[in-house]
Amino acid sequence: MSDTGAREAPVRRRELTVADQVAGVRAGDRAILARAITLVESSAPHDRDRAAELLTALMPHTGQAMRVGLTGVPGVGKSTFIETLGGRLTSAGHRVAVLAVDPSSGVSGGSILGDKTRMGRLAVDPAAFIRPSPASGTLGGVAAKTRESILLCEAAGFDVVIVETVGVGQSETVVAEMTDSFVALMLPGAGDELQGIKRGLMELADVIAVNKADGDGRRPAERAARELRSALRLLHPAGTGWSPPVLICSALAGDGVDEVWAAVTAHRQQLVATGAFEQRRRAQALRWMWTLIDDGLRTALRADPHVRELLAPVGEGVTSGQLPPTVAARNLLDQFLGHREPGSQPGGAS
Ligand code: GDP
Repeated sequence: MSDTGAREAPVRRRELTVADQVAGVRAGDRAILARAITLVESSAPHDRDRAAELLTALMPHTGQAMRVGLTGVPGVGKSTFIETLGGRLTSAGHRVAVLAVDPSSGVSGGSILGDKTRMGRLAVDPAAFIRPSPASGTLGGVAAKTRESILLCEAAGFDVVIVETVGVGQSETVVAEMTDSFVALMLPGAGDELQGIKRGLMELADVIAVNKADGDGRRPAERAARELRSALRLLHPAGTGWSPPVLICSALAGDGVDEVWAAVTAHRQQLVATGAFEQRRRAQALRWMWTLIDDGLRTALRADPHVRELLAPVGEGVTSGQLPPTVAARNLLDQFLGHREPGSQPGGAS
């Protein structure tokens, strides 16, 4: 099912109370789930209050899903992989939600992940729910909304939540930070394995799969996997807990996809067995809270009328190179906090 229609429905239809939404989400109603996600994505103060109420009511029903991050450069085969894996999981009785963190949405209003017709079969699978990336906001804002969407999907009974992103900038870090296991899809050849190492992806990935290991691609995929394995041995010396397996697969043909999922499951089991699972979830929740506090303070600071007056001249001072950013930041913070230090001239670009 596509939730596009539900997404465009007016968010504030009065007939759906928070209690209705709680019941609808709990019943696994995908249209209501889609509207609940629209609500948590909204930044209108009224919606924020309702979203908080909704999330608080649903909190006891969250946490049980396997939260799996998936990354890879555009074209590596992420949607093909999710389509294949998702279909197998729903056939096996799982309910699969697919969310996305699109690092391009906040920047350009465009989309790396969401605009083509992707995952057509999974989209009509009644046991699946696919939601594109929140369309706007900073990466931090998009991440916060996606985290809340994970909770909503869990409350709606989805026991596998896949969060897809693209190997660009910080988006992999934020997705790793909201999931239990992080899968990196790689392309054979083209030095992708080295790029992965450079980007720090190898430290984030719990499972690595070289995709397109079919036809002429099989041997290069095997070679890439070997190279990745030896690179990983340097990063994760034996005996330090989980060593990310490097597998090969063909998302298109379906080969090796079960093995990738088995590795994800094994990773989770290892986390649970060592107690790291609980620890990771708790630490993530706490860091999320702090991120929200940081964001909230930033938003409040920007909205402060006294600060607002200063933003343009101080910004100008910084961009023209006349005001050190440290001094500019301190001026604005002092203005916001109401105790400006003597001698720190607001807007003191000259
Ligand atoms: P995404 O941008 O990472 O989501 O990549 P897509 O899933 O859209 O795949 C990009 C292209 O690669 C499409 O033409 C797919 O058919 C193709 N593709 C995906 N997986 C495989 C695979 O395992 N083998 C081969 N040969 N092609 C694949």
